[in-house]
Amino acid sequence: MRIDLHTHSACSDGTQTPTELMVAASSAGLDVVGLTDHDTISGWDEAAAAVSVTGVQLVRGIELTTRDDNMSVHLLGYLFDPEAEKLRKHRQNLKNSRYERVAKMVELIGKDYPITIEQIEERVGVGVPLGRPHIADELIRIGVIKTREEGFMGILRPGSPYYVRNYSPSTLDAISWVNEAGGKAVLAHPLGIKRGGAIKFSRFMEFKEAGLFGVEVAHRDNDRALLPELENLITRLDLARFGASDYHGSGKPNLLGENTTSEEVLALLCEGSFLEVIRP
Ligand code: AMP
Ligand code: ZN
Ligand code: FE
Ligand code: FE
Repeated sequence: MRIDLHTHSACSDGTQTPTELMVAASSAGLDVVGLTDHDTISGWDEAAAAVSVTGVQLVRGIELTTRDDNMSVHLLGYLFDPEAEKLRKHRQNLKNSRYERVAKMVELIGKDYPITIEQIEERVGVGVPLGRPHIADELIRIGVIKTREEGFMGILRPGSPYYVRNYSPSTLDAISWVNEAGGKAVLAHPLGIKRGGAIKFSRFMEFKEAGLFGVEVAHRDNDRALLPELENLITRLDLARFGASDYHGSGKPNLLGENTTSEEVLALLCEGSFLEVIRP
């Protein structure tokens, strides 16, 4: 079984529709895919409809942008009740706060380069939780930069005069929201070199106590030098070991199935969770 539980569609900042993503997952030889768009579940139904067509099983998830110790922490939530109040409110709030934040950045950038929030919204679609990748795509469209990566290294980087911080809830709160909703919480790429350094190992204990289920160990952004220590830590804290691609279509070089999660961990993920895996 080939299982990749962290991917994005155009319902957030991936470049493919959920249907296209499921077809790509089938071509990549995956048996199970997890759809984890940023702060939204709007792609779930379309992806679910593609399960019987593609034969690829679907794990419904989300990637929440949170903050801990003044660091940006991405938290994956899986198989939770979509009606659960706190996460539902959060998704609604984030749609608005992400829009406001991107609009502010676009206003600043707009003084130097001809882009507007209206153009972005028209291209991306109303209601998609916006992020810097959508600004990058607009800058690519008008020829200011060539790739998202170039945007993230320059105009869009923290510390750029155009940068505006986003709102995010605390990681501990987000972990408890996912658990209260009957889902499982998994720490995404905790040793990301590019995102202001690795999460301190001393924080993991508190995350575990708050209900953290697992950690993404095999992920291309994790600092390899710190991996042995992370492996030790998750064994000691009895956290489940995940691996995934964080596929974004053509928005990132990450390839479907480049890292995977074991069948055993998937079985534990499903055990007692509110939602089930959708099978053909
Ligand atoms: P934001 O939420 O606006 O802070 O932007 C973060 C998003 O941008 C995350 O979804 C990342 O997957 C994506 N991202 C971060 N760095 C890069 C990069 N170098 N190239 C493309 N996408 C990136
Ligand atoms: Zn993303
Ligand atoms: Fe992430
Ligand atoms: Fe991601």
